[in-house]
Amino acid sequence: MNGDDQDNWPEQVDGGTDGYVDHSRKQSVRRLERALLAAEQHSGSCTAGKLAELFVIARDFGMELDQALRSRLVNALKYLYVVGDPAGDAEPLAGRPSDDVITLIEELDDPDNDPDPIRSRIMTAQVYSRVDGRVTERGEVLKEAYTLCPTSPERVEVGIILAQFQVDTGCNRRAKRILTECGRLVGADDSGARLLPELAVCRGGLLFAQGRLRGAQRCFSEALSAMDRLSRSRHERPGVKAYHYLGKIHALYGRYERAVENLVRAEELLEQRAVDDRRQSGHNHSRLGEVLNKAGSPDARWHSSKARDLFIQAGDESSGRGLQEGASGGPAEPIKHRIQRYELRQQVARNNQHWRSAVIASFRLMLIHGRHGTLWTVVGHAWRALEAGTRLVLRSGPLASTAGVVELAMASVVRTARKRRMARLKTPLRCHCLQCRSKISAETRRTSPFNP
Ligand SMILES: [Zn+2]
Repeated sequence: MNGDDQDNWPEQVDGGTDGYVDHSRKQSVRRLERALLAAEQHSGSCTAGKLAELFVIARDFGMELDQALRSRLVNALKYLYVVGDPAGDAEPLAGRPSDDVITLIEELDDPDNDPDPIRSRIMTAQVYSRVDGRVTERGEVLKEAYTLCPTSPERVEVGIILAQFQVDTGCNRRAKRILTECGRLVGADDSGARLLPELAVCRGGLLFAQGRLRGAQRCFSEALSAMDRLSRSRHERPGVKAYHYLGKIHALYGRYERAVENLVRAEELLEQRAVDDRRQSGHNHSRLGEVLNKAGSPDARWHSSKARDLFIQAGDESSGRGLQEGASGGPAEPIKHRIQRYELRQQVARNNQHWRSAVIASFRLMLIHGRHGTLWTVVGHAWRALEAGTRLVLRSGPLASTAGVVELAMASVVRTARKRRMARLKTPLRCHCLQCRSKISAETRRTSPFNP
């Protein structure tokens, strides 16, 4: 905020104390209006914390809050909370929204009186997706939004968001039911056909979560060809997600070169977008770091630390902290750091009811403690893995879970065989993203015998 926001109180105001309060109220309302307008025009000069602060000041001075202003304000707060600090200033943490903003959003939120009650709920769900431990509330507003959508294509659009949430929280059967309904609606209605890529990506995500990697791979390829058919650019969300997941699948099968290829492509597409999506970019870099690390590449560390910076800038501190120390893992990582990393992952997964990730994290911790810890810590983590596993099976159904576990186990057998072959490669795998390529050519220049 700049310019006349910093203007001083006048020396003299007519009308004594009342005049002073009146003047202050008008001034604070003006500031609030300017900030609100900036948020609505996405001009990037205001953060959620700042807007909330200006609102509280204006209200304390007796500003009246009518329904229209209330809707505008709560929508702007939700938007700013979700995009974080769009200006990307030197002090990214300064714009990180606090719990106060969430409290204010919940206090002001009145979706039934909002001009667009469905969108209002979707935005609330997006806000909750950024806060640890608000899974139940997020599921509730999404279900309400879905129930409010009478017909396609809006029902398909909201259905996909709800199904994605259910995949993330391990409710695979419910997700499948909704995706089946969405598939029917898309087929019955031409206007819904534009959502085919989103639908294919969500289906792919469900199959991936069930460990059915081949089916998932088919869905992601389908999403990309549907985008071509619809003349939609691949840098839109489903395109980026499809490449990201294809990278993950290739990595699971030990095809590291192809994994890196797809993940770099996802990042390149993301850079072509007008709005930067730091979380998605963080996930890409984090995965690239992991894959390169597994392939013993010297380029791993740069991507892992880039991922950490992006998560922290996006206000996702827990993911950022998870990558902080010894982020790239690998054999050289101190045991203490490895334990911290998995403990954090376990905690975040449990807070957000991501039971699959919780099982994996607890299982890894059990193995690490098995080698380096005491019997009691091993028993503790085994118990946690079992507990999370039970919740996962209860939610996603025993059949789906078992099928997934078998295919994941098969993938890891293939991966081990591949790894042996990889180990025989003489030169380590190098990343071909723009950043790593320029780093590699600088290294080559330095070590070249032709260089003085
Ligand atoms: Zn790279």
